[in-house]
Amino acid sequence: MHKFDVIVIGGGHAGIEAAAAASRMGAKTALITMKSNTIGEMSCNPAIGGLGKGHLVREIDALDGLMAKAIDLSGIQFRMLNKSRGPAVQGPRSQADRKLYKKAIKDLLKLEKNLSIIESTIKDLSIKDNKINGVTLEDETVYFSKSVVLTTGTFLGGVIHIGDERIPAGRIGDKSSIILSKKIRQLNLPIGRLKTGTPARLDKNSINWQKVEMQSADTTPIPFSYMNDKINVPQIECGITRTNLNTHNIILKNLNLSPVYSGSIEGTGPRYCPSIEDKVNRFNEKNSHQIFLEPEGLDSDLIYPNGISTSLPRHIQDSFIKTIVGLEDVVIKQYGYAIEYDYMDPRALKETLEVKSIKGLFFAGQINGTTGYEEAAAQGLIAGINAAIKLNENKDWFVLDRSEAYIGVMIDDLITRGAPEPYRMFTSRAEYRLLLRSDNADQRLTEKGIKAGVVKREREMRWNEKNKTLKRANHILDSLDAKPNELKKHNLPITRTGRKRSPKDILSSGEYKIIDLLEIWPELHEIPKNLHPQLETDCRYNIYLKRQKEDIKAYKKENKTKIPTNFDYNEVKGLSNESRDLLTTLRPATIAQASRLPGFTPTATLLLLRHLKRDFKQKANNEHQFI
Ligand code: FAD
Repeated sequence: MHKFDVIVIGGGHAGIEAAAAASRMGAKTALITMKSNTIGEMSCNPAIGGLGKGHLVREIDALDGLMAKAIDLSGIQFRMLNKSRGPAVQGPRSQADRKLYKKAIKDLLKLEKNLSIIESTIKDLSIKDNKINGVTLEDETVYFSKSVVLTTGTFLGGVIHIGDERIPAGRIGDKSSIILSKKIRQLNLPIGRLKTGTPARLDKNSINWQKVEMQSADTTPIPFSYMNDKINVPQIECGITRTNLNTHNIILKNLNLSPVYSGSIEGTGPRYCPSIEDKVNRFNEKNSHQIFLEPEGLDSDLIYPNGISTSLPRHIQDSFIKTIVGLEDVVIKQYGYAIEYDYMDPRALKETLEVKSIKGLFFAGQINGTTGYEEAAAQGLIAGINAAIKLNENKDWFVLDRSEAYIGVMIDDLITRGAPEPYRMFTSRAEYRLLLRSDNADQRLTEKGIKAGVVKREREMRWNEKNKTLKRANHILDSLDAKPNELKKHNLPITRTGRKRSPKDILSSGEYKIIDLLEIWPELHEIPKNLHPQLETDCRYNIYLKRQKEDIKAYKKENKTKIPTNFDYNEVKGLSNESRDLLTTLRPATIAQASRLPGFTPTATLLLLRHLKRDFKQKANNEHQFI
């Protein structure tokens, strides 16, 4: 009999992290996926990170996930985005060599001792009494498990659209998961349709590179992973060009041939990553849109033109792309397309990503209405950890809240607000941006990961070492000060009161760096250079960080008020019928979740909170009397 502690379905970005996390937790894990040679495939853009997304990658890394390590081994153009803005909103990003990324992922998975990779297609889930028991493969073999993580991405009922062509597929070159889609629809889960798209791939040698602007990588690439000190992969340039009015005219003239506009796609597409048809139509005041010409690898002849995702017919793609400067003679190697697929409304999930109505079944990744590798990987990690925890009922669930991590923000958004359109991460989604920086993800999460058992020994040792050094650095910064005449001598600012100033006081203005203070305080030489940026940011934002921490305390107090699963909302006096219906349907687990439900007012939150508190007090009194 084939029996595993945890089974993960799908070897995409969510499945990889789920399987690796469950294995790190000590669970005997099977990763069952259609084609083992597509494990770690980047279906669309060959890049990892970006604004908000880069934060997710660092958080995955802080919990010992694979994505950051893999991009460090395969990144061919590292750039810190938003460099001119505050550290809270900067986003690490790197273009990837597709082949190297896949190889890195496979090599990292090979190190997982508790993991078996099985190449097969799942056609059914075995569920009894609202509990998962296992999965059935295409050849009817049954694999048993009480914890199953489903991460099938864009494959369930996937249909590719190019003009009026409709091709059943999970993505180009891969079969659609049709039988499993039908089975999942029978489970009475809230299934809907979404869509996403990808641009054509161009032949590198047919582009006139002399006519386009070139953009280089950062001179010193900063690794994504806290385990790495430097990047050894050669860094390349990418090109930048733009659409123009000729391009737009062709697109507008043929808009009716795009499946979205002709009505043959019903699913909603990603608002923040629109197709070129959408951009031209919606922003018709703009005369041009930027396009990045990104090589798909160090030795690849394919170029990914980032910014012109399309599902227009092939001959229209040929003609509009050729109007773009540098692309006049371009040869298209693969046409752009849109894909429509099944997703499940994530409000059917708990914060552990377990389906509320089916014990032991977890959903993670694009299937939950998100878009992007990073969003998928982050969910996979959380689902994988909790799927392993499920085996040991004495262990606490692994849940991150909005004040701890972007991962917490994303999962909370998904399970309380759903995903009426493909959800992608942005820094603006987080309330506590100054605390949730990409440079301090390890400080926020690694200890929690160690306690849960998902962080391996090597990272634990490195983290302990870094923590010790950080503590020592803070001690040095706190123990030094100088009188105004000393400060003056070194051209450092003094206060009007003539008070002594510490290095932290000087750094709080944001105008000085630790390196500027070495002369006056040579003791600062002891602080390793790689810690300077993080310490400087902490000093600069100290006051605001304190304020955010107080906000978080208040939030946590409120968040802790749990709502019993069988709570009768009819008992709460003063709630509108609309609020009552909303709460009864969605059954939020806490007051904080209830407060974020769309349309749920602060007054309604207060009524609910007061009722629960009164209820608890009454129950406590009754118990007391009984004793
Ligand atoms: P996937 O990476 O899709 O992996 C799913 C895995 O499940 C695959 O390995 C598949 O083989 C396996 N599988 C499926 N069904 C079965 C089954 N029955 N049995 C066994 N294995 C199965 N993201 C962006 O951020 N921006 C974009 O512009 C963008 N455009 C995209 C365009 C296209 C055309 C596509 C396809 C995706 C695009 N994405 C984009 C999304 C990005 O690719 C996904 O968000 C990401 O890959 C999701 O990861 P995942 O692990 O959820 O699923």
